[in-house]
Parts: sequence; structure tokens; C-alpha cells
Amino acid sequence: MEVSIVVPCYNEESSIMVFWEKISSICTQNNIEFEIIFVDDGSTDYTLSKIKELTQKNHNIRYASLSRNFGKDAAILAGLKKVQGNYCAVMDVDLQDPPELLPQMLEAIKNPEIDCVETRRESRIGEPAIRSFFAKAFCKIMNAISNVHITDGIRDFRLMKQNVLDAVISIQESNRFSKGLFSWVGFKTICITYPNTKRINGISKWSFWSLFKYAANGIISFSTLPLYIPLIFGALLLLVGTVGFIYCLLYLKSISTPFYLFFITFMFGFNFLFIGFLGLYLAKIHTETQKRPLYIIREEN
Ligand code: UDP
Ligand code: MG
Repeated sequence: MEVSIVVPCYNEESSIMVFWEKISSICTQNNIEFEIIFVDDGSTDYTLSKIKELTQKNHNIRYASLSRNFGKDAAILAGLKKVQGNYCAVMDVDLQDPPELLPQMLEAIKNPEIDCVETRRESRIGEPAIRSFFAKAFCKIMNAISNVHITDGIRDFRLMKQNVLDAVISIQESNRFSKGLFSWVGFKTICITYPNTKRINGISKWSFWSLFKYAANGIISFSTLPLYIPLIFGALLLLVGTVGFIYCLLYLKSISTPFYLFFITFMFGFNFLFIGFLGLYLAKIHTETQKRPLYIIREEN
């Protein structure tokens, strides 16, 4: 098998058949030997029935159906663990990840110097403005405070070699933010850009609230910097409080209002400083509990 394509699906009864027609025609035209691994992420509509219907007629479709809705990232992991092909692709079922790019991606990954081909939509045309705004802000914050780089418009749609696949699966943490994990594992990656495409059928599964939780989870999984804020804030307050306190003692020579204000500032600084220290220990515990591999080898003899 040349390529296994992992496709997470949640309430996608109207997209499954269209997706299958499209992907199979493209792969057949380009002589790509492929299999589809559908992951039904606890759909409550006829998604699973449609998948089973396809499995009966086609030998190159496998599926896993999750016991409830676990979210796209968990569904992707379930699919990745079933991969048997030489290369592994991840793709949405709503055709927002254009299957037409697959031949080009396969061509690129055959280069021994490349381990992963990722994709990025170069525009967000058709997306609600508020969602674009927050998505862009999220990328900026993430890149500023974490140790992974998330390019604006980057998709989960990618093609990878076995080494990248193994590395992603080896990460055991349960709060999985796939885009971050793909970036975190490293490897030689190239990016193909394409214009944004609209969903073929159905609606986006992300509400504003679920996207907010997704973004917050991403930041917490890849940055402990917020835990350092009280430390910096506390140190500043302590400094202001101490300087003010000394000034009052030297020049005012009486216990007046400024004296109390600086005293309160000093005490707040003290509190924040200790919360900051707790944050430092918490950050250590946080990274330890994630149990990420200490390193990933790309090549050795
Ligand atoms: N999806 C999933 N589980 C979820 C939400 C979404 O498996 O809880 C799948 C969905 O069926 C689709 C892909 O993830 O194949 C992307 O979802 P969607 O199109 O709703 O996201 P958007 O394109 O709006 O970011
Ligand atoms: Mg979509």
C-alpha cells in the first residue's frame, strides 16, 4: 500500500460519498495505490452506515468508530494507529483539504531529504471575520510564547513518512493539539499553499466556544509562560513597594497615606512573588506529566 489516508468524520453523512468519489477518482487517475481509514468520531447521524456501505463495496476502506465524540485530534490519533501504508495522509472529509494536491504531495515526499509535506491555505475567504481574527491572534500568541511554530492557515492536512508517524504516535499526552504536535516532532517539512475552499456539505463542527477551548488547550499544552507572569509582576510590585517605603521613611518622616500605599504594594508584591514560585514548580510538574520524548532521532547508523 502506497498511502493510507486518515479521515476523521463527525456527523458527515452528506460528505462521505462525495469525498470517496473525489479521492478515488484522483488516486485512480494518478496511479496511486491507496487506502482510506475513516474514523467515525461518535457521529449521531448516518455517517457510520455510509462508511460501512462503502466498505462492503471497496476493499481499500477500513474504519474505526469511536464510542462517543472525542474530538478531531483523538479521532486522528485513532486513525494514525491503524496506518499500514508507506506514507500516511490526514485529510478532512468535507473536501476543504483539496485531494487534488495529493499527487503533488506524494511527488515531493519521495525526496529522501523530506519527511513531511504540510499544507496551508493562503487566504481565509469565506470564513466568518471574527473567526479569522481570533485564529490569527491565536497564531501570534502561540508563536510568541511557545516552543512550536504555528503558521497562520496551516492545516492538519499533511502527508508524512513512517518516522514522523511513529514520532507523533509516541507522544502519549491526552490533551492532544495535533498542529502543535506535528510542529513539535520536527523533521524535514515542506509546505504547499492553496486558496481556501468551502465545505461541500454540512456545517463546520466548531462553535466559537469549542474553538476557544481548542486554542486555550493548545497554548497550555505548549507554553508554561503564563505561569511565570505572577513572578515578574510580583518582583515589580516588590521593587516599587520597597523604593516607595524607603522614600517615605527618609523624606516624609511620618506614617501617612503614601506610606500605607507603598506598604500594601510591597505586601502584594510578596504574595505575587510566591504565587510565581508556585508557578515555577507547577510548570515543572506540567512538563514532566506530559512525558514527551526527550529527543527524536531522524537518522542514525
Ligand atoms: N471532526 C471530527 N470530530 C469533531 C469535529 C470535527 O472528527 O469533533 C472532523 C470533521 O468531520 C471534518 C474535520 O474534522 O472531517 C474538520 O472539521 P470541520 O470541517 O467542522 O472544521 P473546520 O473546517 O470548520 O475547521
Ligand atoms: Mg471543514
